[in-house]
Amino acid sequence: MSETTEQKPRKKLVAGNWKMNGSFDSNEALILGFLAEVDDQVDVSVFCPFPYLTQVAKLLEDQGVAYGAQDVSAKASGAYTGEVSVSMLNEFGVTQVLVGHSERRQYHAESSVAVAEKAVVAMAGGITPIVCVGETLAERQAGLVEAVIASQLDPVIERCSKFVGNGAWNLVIAYEPVWAIGTGVTASPEQAQEVHAMIRARLNAMLGSEVAQSTRILYGGSVKPGNASEIFAKVDIDGGLIGGAALSSDEFSGIIRAARG
Ligand code: PEP
Repeated sequence: MSETTEQKPRKKLVAGNWKMNGSFDSNEALILGFLAEVDDQVDVSVFCPFPYLTQVAKLLEDQGVAYGAQDVSAKASGAYTGEVSVSMLNEFGVTQVLVGHSERRQYHAESSVAVAEKAVVAMAGGITPIVCVGETLAERQAGLVEAVIASQLDPVIERCSKFVGNGAWNLVIAYEPVWAIGTGVTASPEQAQEVHAMIRARLNAMLGSEVAQSTRILYGGSVKPGNASEIFAKVDIDGGLIGGAALSSDEFSGIIRAARG
């Protein structure tokens, strides 16, 4: 597609990261509480802890909501205690997976190369990786936002570029400034848009305009029903990755409504 071809608008995606929260009872109440808000105008997905995949799959059967895991191994099988492979996720009907969440980078020392390797195996297995990137407050204050995002993103783009052109490219990027995650402090819509535009420009430079224009870039970091509309209104923000507010069906519903516009 040339630069001048009209692009289809990107459909907004609201993705709920449950982190290490949930129980059979609370999962059911949460899902049943937001399903009424789901329609075909906004894509919605939830990322539950591994043990709940069967329950979540059953609750979401034919409901138009995708579900996924919060991590995946870059290895196919073998002696990797505690790891879960792409083929295992495939068996649970998983279509999306979070990769490189800042909590994985921070508490499990995941490097950007390790994150990129996970993204590649997910994509190769037909699962959409939602790759999380974002700077710490110290990095922002030191003027390093662009350098940090590039160092996190470039290994992913380089390794996944082989899927462009064969129909298998399905990357979603989540910009999540570390200082905004779970803190109640959100990036201003302008701060977020600035980084999203930079990410899209990077995709454009490395993979061309068709990929850049079709790839969804989510914002994550203390998104709530009260601030979601303003954030989602920005031209390069294609929805949100939601943590705390994804654990309340009322709040998650409010964010889905905001994404619908
Ligand atoms: C997250 O963990 O991905 C996240 C964005 O969390 P919160 O919405 O709670 O800031």
